[in-house]
Amino acid sequence: MTGAPLFERMALIGIGLIGSSLAQVARQRGLVKEISISTRSPATLQRAEELGLGDHYSLDAAVAVEGADLVVLCVPVGANEAVAKWIAPALKPGAILTDAGSTKESVVEQVSPHVPDGVHFIPGHPIAGTEHSGPDAGFPTLFDQRWCILTPGEGVDAVALEKLKAFWQGCGSDVDLMEPKHHDLVLAIVSHLPHLIAYNIVGTADDLATVTKSQVIKYSASGFRDFTRLAASDPTMWRDVCLNNKEAILEMLARFSEDLSAMQRAIRWGDGQMLFDLFTRTRGIRRSIIEAGQETDAPDFGRHVAGNPVSSND
Ligand code: NAP
Repeated sequence: MTGAPLFERMALIGIGLIGSSLAQVARQRGLVKEISISTRSPATLQRAEELGLGDHYSLDAAVAVEGADLVVLCVPVGANEAVAKWIAPALKPGAILTDAGSTKESVVEQVSPHVPDGVHFIPGHPIAGTEHSGPDAGFPTLFDQRWCILTPGEGVDAVALEKLKAFWQGCGSDVDLMEPKHHDLVLAIVSHLPHLIAYNIVGTADDLATVTKSQVIKYSASGFRDFTRLAASDPTMWRDVCLNNKEAILEMLARFSEDLSAMQRAIRWGDGQMLFDLFTRTRGIRRSIIEAGQETDAPDFGRHVAGNPVSSND
């Protein structure tokens, strides 16, 4: 990006995969003039400083947001409310407050009541991630060609919204606007349910007494391995996602269980046509994802090229 930075000072609260990637891309593409970083633990803050991710570092989130015209909450969704309470009195009038959380209704409910008048709260969710966490996991191209969903409330300031959109576009993303409830339903099926299925399959395989763990690992390339990538995702983040998108996840799990029962019946009664038709339909969906540029056609999901992390949808 050329020209003046969009923001004078960006404050990142939380400096894991998302915060670190934002710091790197914002710096590299000149989107912000200064970066102020805060996180919960001294060890993570020290690591962020060693990596040179920011200009100012503080364990006090309220100090970090002082003077910032863009504040991004990059903590697990279950921590947003406490952080919002903490920083609220220190937010600069006119600042944009946003977040990267994977659920949106809960963030609106938990953060909105604490946002002072004159601060523009526009929740967000970059649909980009990997199974890694912490400041070392970040990389500046994480958001390239990925979607970022913003869920602005009614009466949002149009100028602030345009500025935040321009910021995410500068990070490489396409921006979509959505209602928080609709976001949570969509993400329940495209992200939350797949992660839960992966956690479940990997847990089941681990529990099986008749197949040894060494065999599960040895023959993992037959399908199991692809689930283990999702099942290696951060436990805190995913616990919080489950607890904060309860309704939509339960709805999708119920639907999934019904469809699984139908498949079970087809296998039991030898209904090969049903199975063949389903597998043909699903193969087409993968083709559409590749055509939409959200995945490569490379084997192994194209994610394991050494030294060249590729983002997936979170
Ligand atoms: P991460 O790598 O695990 O980093 C989390 C950061 O939040 C760390 O700086 C951590 O601090 C801090 N933190 C953790 N618990 C906290 C608490 N209770 N109070 C205050 N700070 C706390 O996480 P991430 O992957 O960057 O995820 C950040 C947010 O982005 C989450 O809301 C997640 O839902 C969302 N998101 C994640 C992905 C993904 O694929 N990972 C994709 C899109 C959106 P310390 O290390 O100092 O303890």
